[in-house]
Amino acid sequence: MFARVPPGPIIDDISQVSSAEIGQETAAHVKGAKVVCANYRAIVHDFPHFFGASADPADKFAGCKSCEAIGKPCPAAINQWLVRNAAFVSLPQSRGNGVNTRIDLDGVTRVAYRPPAYGRALIVPVDGHYAAGSAKFLDLKGAGVQLGETPSHEAYKNGLEYLGFAIADFLYGWLIDTLFARSYPGYHIVPVYAVLDLGFDIVGGWHGTSPAGMHVRRAHARPIPSESLPKAGSELEKLDLHIELLLRSFGLSTTGSGTSFRLANLDIAGDDTLTYKSMPVAPLIEPERVMVTRIAEAIRASGGDCLEITNVQMTSGGSWSQKAAQIYDFGQVRAERWFPNPIANAVRNTPLNVGRVMSPADVTFVQPHPAIAVDADLGNRRSVDALGFHAATSFRQDGPFRQIDVETMLRIARLKIMRRHFDWAIRGTPMRHQRAANSAVCANLTAQRLHSTW
Ligand SMILES: [Zn+2]
Repeated sequence: MFARVPPGPIIDDISQVSSAEIGQETAAHVKGAKVVCANYRAIVHDFPHFFGASADPADKFAGCKSCEAIGKPCPAAINQWLVRNAAFVSLPQSRGNGVNTRIDLDGVTRVAYRPPAYGRALIVPVDGHYAAGSAKFLDLKGAGVQLGETPSHEAYKNGLEYLGFAIADFLYGWLIDTLFARSYPGYHIVPVYAVLDLGFDIVGGWHGTSPAGMHVRRAHARPIPSESLPKAGSELEKLDLHIELLLRSFGLSTTGSGTSFRLANLDIAGDDTLTYKSMPVAPLIEPERVMVTRIAEAIRASGGDCLEITNVQMTSGGSWSQKAAQIYDFGQVRAERWFPNPIANAVRNTPLNVGRVMSPADVTFVQPHPAIAVDADLGNRRSVDALGFHAATSFRQDGPFRQIDVETMLRIARLKIMRRHFDWAIRGTPMRHQRAANSAVCANLTAQRLHSTW
């Protein structure tokens, strides 16, 4: 369950994640972290020497008696392994600061790697023996700021991830993987092994005070920062645009207000002033002035109010000719009924990094197809975030809303967003968990639908 598992690439040497210089630091283990949801199939696939059927008895993790009896990997044993190997934060994050409540540490430390532009993510090796063909690392998102930095409330500077947002991201990733599987099965998401509750809170961030969480993902290779955007006209630009247009046919998009060019004075004819991230765009050279005019014209011609820029976060190794790609990070994903604005790729070698511009009037522009599009009310960012934060708060209370409830909730939510029946997907789940999960979905996704039609 929880998304397909692409067979590779599997990282077994840290130098494979980036061709740039990789920083090394020490991470501290957090006491009291818990698994909120987990993709056991992906973990068993990537760490067969610990959990697979053919595991060497010397390396194999003993499970509980009932799992051993039927020869199944034991979720409880895997959860212990996950918490022991993934609940780490960076040293600067672990000290007292203004962005999170106290972090309880247990004195265990581990070497951690931070490739350039990894922001709040770290890569740590797992403990125990290593066997050829297995993965060796976990990619941890929400593991704190890097050495030499102090966590702050500035955008992207607190080092952490809200647990609610991590759950929302997990749901969007699974949803997108399902849509890829039906349309272009060579497109995948980077497997997310689990989401953890780290046991402390983020304080006073964009969502106020709420539990801190962590994504535990398969370690993967990314292009070096200066090459993270494709070149205009390249195969990678085509791949990037194709993924965006494919998602749009399902009513989803990676574009967002954070990366859009807006007309500052929409109602003043001939005023081409643009803003980007709420700051005026000041073209310095002639090609940039030409691009500003082109963007302004495209926005006015569309009748919309901005130029949306694709934000498909792709690992290294994507191929347009093979229609193969792996994407990660869905914090920018949203669902819409209709896309009124022109879009462009972000590229690295044009003025203002704007690539091919497509207008809604173009025959190649893609709108959501009613037969396959997701439910835009249930699947929009506000709804999915509301569900994630509800689950985070309920889970943290250490009451009846547990991992099984979060996972059942995710099953129901994904199918409801896809306009499908869900009863079949939760049939084996005890009735009280079905009820708890379904009522969480109804109270959040459905409430958001009511709001959005006011
Ligand atoms: Zn078990």
